Amino acid sequence: MATVPFIFPSFILLLLLTLASLTTQSKPNVNPFGFLKSLEGCRKGQNVDGLHHLKRYLAKFGYLDNHPVSENKVTTTMTLNKDAQLFDESLEEAIRTYQKNYKLNVTGHLDAATVEQMTKPRCGSPDIINGRNTMQKDKTTSSYKSRKSLYGTSLYAYKGQMWPSSEYQLTYQIQSGTLVKGAENMRSVVADALNKWAQYSPFTFQEVVEGSQSNLIFGFAEGEHGDGQPFDGPGGVLGHSFYPTDGRSHYDATENWSDDPGLYEMDLNSVVLHEIGHLLGLGHSQDQNAVMFPTIGQGMRKRELQQDDVEGIQALYETT
Ligand SMILES: [Zn+2]
Ligand SMILES: [Zn+2]
Repeated sequence: MATVPFIFPSFILLLLLTLASLTTQSKPNVNPFGFLKSLEGCRKGQNVDGLHHLKRYLAKFGYLDNHPVSENKVTTTMTLNKDAQLFDESLEEAIRTYQKNYKLNVTGHLDAATVEQMTKPRCGSPDIINGRNTMQKDKTTSSYKSRKSLYGTSLYAYKGQMWPSSEYQLTYQIQSGTLVKGAENMRSVVADALNKWAQYSPFTFQEVVEGSQSNLIFGFAEGEHGDGQPFDGPGGVLGHSFYPTDGRSHYDATENWSDDPGLYEMDLNSVVLHEIGHLLGLGHSQDQNAVMFPTIGQGMRKRELQQDDVEGIQALYETT
């Protein structure tokens, strides 16, 4: 009889612990790219409510030149251009290019597989930069080196977007004031990731005191943060980085970051490793195993550079 009072509180405690772990672990966030699901199935010739969101998505990642929505910063009202909701020729072409890049069936309409790919969390750096599609390297017909000798160095390095050989000894700092939950180990995460790239490139990396001059700066930010590329909350865009010799690498502070991710957390180590690729001058890869592939699932780890990543950095800096 004496054990009864002990059993009851233990049961309550267990229940509370279970509830606490349920609320912290199994709560999927609202996806900023979730609007795409309501547009599934739309195709050329149709007028569809909300289609301008798809156009804005494709413009953000370089697939469309025109921005169908102009935002008035003073009144924060949005003005839709004429035909913003029309599925026209250029939208079809943009979707076809997206489907080629992600090795999907090239249908030209917003089919289920395309929506599924588009809604995955991803890097905010565009796949197409100033008209150059970074994801089409056509490695099946020729190696990086042979194409390089045919077309010159501009195939993998955007002109002026490499570090000059006088700057292979790069310094970096981490903005500790912006660190967020799950990113407490950012310093060692960044050091490990830089070390992985250093093994296959001519670079060395030296951490310097925060606030001093450095080539690379890593930091977290929320929403609008001064570079014209606002973050979008949990899910959607995870981070973005600028090409050489800019050096800024930004991470969305509102993600469920972790350096040991559970099912609904984003692996900080994988995303940092990817973003450093951009800092060194690499674009996105079509190879879904590559670290430089633009999307990554929740809980997924891609912590080792793959052959495609290594070939890319070595072609860029001619280390082979
Ligand atoms: Zn990227
Ligand atoms: Zn930024």
